[in-house]
Formats: sequence, structure tokens, C-alpha cells
Amino acid sequence: MYASFIYVFFDVQENFLDAIIKIGLIEESAKFLTLLSVYPFIKKNFNEIVDGILYISAISLGFSVIENIFYAMDSEQPFSLLFQRSIFSTLGHLSFSGYMGIAFYIHKRIHKNYLGIVLSIVLAAFAHGFYDGFIFESSISFLFQFVFIALVILQLWMLKVALGFSAFRQKLVADMFMRTEKPIKMYCTHCNKIINTQEIYFGKIKAAHCFLCDNMLFAYKNVNYLFDYFRPIFNLKKYIKKLPFKIKISAFDINNTILYHSSKKSLSANVVELSDWFEYENSRDKTRILSIPFFGFFLKHLDLKHVIPARDFFDFSTYNNS
Ligand SMILES: [Zn+2]
Repeated sequence: MYASFIYVFFDVQENFLDAIIKIGLIEESAKFLTLLSVYPFIKKNFNEIVDGILYISAISLGFSVIENIFYAMDSEQPFSLLFQRSIFSTLGHLSFSGYMGIAFYIHKRIHKNYLGIVLSIVLAAFAHGFYDGFIFESSISFLFQFVFIALVILQLWMLKVALGFSAFRQKLVADMFMRTEKPIKMYCTHCNKIINTQEIYFGKIKAAHCFLCDNMLFAYKNVNYLFDYFRPIFNLKKYIKKLPFKIKISAFDINNTILYHSSKKSLSANVVELSDWFEYENSRDKTRILSIPFFGFFLKHLDLKHVIPARDFFDFSTYNNS
């Protein structure tokens, strides 16, 4: 509502510059002001970084619904317009605004972050402006799909980054897995044998226990879920693709306690070692992501660097990539 109020005072041209400065900046600031004004009501549940993204996304959805209705009322074919907008514009709106949620969370929960907030609004305005700009400028509009997909991927990646920084992740322990009576045959890389055992699970992560070597066993799909939860920033698929083709068994750690078999597609690991390895590697992922060129710069200045406890910082130059 803030936005329609402000538009009365501006004459918006359909070009790239106006898309960023006027449309992007106005609409994204409006979303931010909405988050600011609902904050007293959500304060109690606003306790981790992912909440920042979730609440600003909810606001974006609401924003997009209202906008879609306005456009539909103006249109001669409201239904096809609504159909199209509900895909592109709704996802688009979600993809612009996550940055503001992250900066705002840090501002409210960690320390004063005015610079990060300004930067996040500028980033959101640029994302929004690029989206609209590529629609407006007919000479480059054929690139719109690529811009759209890039913005959505970038936002999904931001969500992964936020999950990586989340303080709510549990530590991996054997007790967190629930037992079932369901019999299951699993390959154990340590024992080099098929083991007849029972399925255990934590959330959607299914696993099994090898009674011969006492390790935990995970099939490929569950290795993915495991990494999504304990090491969200890491790109496991890319990593596994890069494993040397001839070597069937690769160790994730130096002590050879976490073994992945690339043709059996299964992981077998000592749960204590795996847990320590996840904690250590996730904190490395966090530091690493802040040091990548360009994106790392923005992430750092949204003030994610303050979300890392001091003990997580250390010198990478002395370590080789695992
Ligand atoms: Zn075993």
C-alpha cells in the first residue's frame, strides 16, 4: 500500500533506469517498511536468520497478490494475465527481496546494521529493476527468461546460505535417529558387504546401522538430504561428479572414517566423526562463501560476517581443499 501511495508523486517511464530507480526502489522499500511495521507482531518468532527470508517472502507474496489483482482489473484478458503473472511475477517478487530479510534479521538480533539494510534494499531494487527492465526494453527482452531464472537461482542460493548460517541446526548424534522394524539391505563401504539391517530415520533422512562395524549407512538420496541439513552451502552433487572416475571409494575426511562408494552410491561413516566433520566443514563453508569474489563481498556487507562466531574464523591458506 505504501507503494501505490508513493507512485502518485512519480512519473514512471518504461525503461531500464526507471525500472531500477523508481519501480525497484519504491516497491522494495515498501516491502521493507511493511516488514518494519509488522515486526512488533512477529518479534517473538523472529529468532533465526532464515526467519528473515521467510517473513520478507510472505510480505512479497502478499505484495504480488495485490499487484496481480490491480493488473487484472486493468486487463482485457484478466485470466490469462493472472495465470502468467502468478508464475513469473510472484516468483519474481520472491526472488528480489530475501537480501532485506537477512540484513534486517542481523539488525534486530545481532547488532545495528544500517549499512547492511541500505545495501540490501539497493540489491533488491537492482534485482527488481533488472526483472522489469528486461521486460520494458524490447531490444533485450529476449533475455528476460535468463534474467528471471538467474534471479530465482540466486535467491534459492541465498536461502541455502542462510540455512548454513542457521543457529537452529541440531548436532548430528546417533540418538536423533528413530528406529523402525522395517528390514533393509544396505551396502557398507567399510565392511565391503551387503548388510541386512533395519531402517532408521531423522526427518526425511533415512539411514541404517551396520552391526558389523558400528557405522551408519546412507544411500545416495539420503546422503543428499544429510548434506542439505548439516552442510547446506556445500554443493554435494558437483563434488561427487568431480570424484576421480577410477577410484570407487573416496574418503571425505583425513582419517578415512567417512567413506563414499561411487558405484554403489552409498556412504558409510562413524557417526561421531561424521558429526565433527560436518561442524568443521560447515564453518569452513561459511567463511569460504564470504571470500568468493563479488557475491562474497555483498554477503559480507549485508553483515553476515557478524553471524559467524569468532572461533569459526581461521586461516585457509594453510589448508588444502578437501
Ligand atoms: Zn560395516
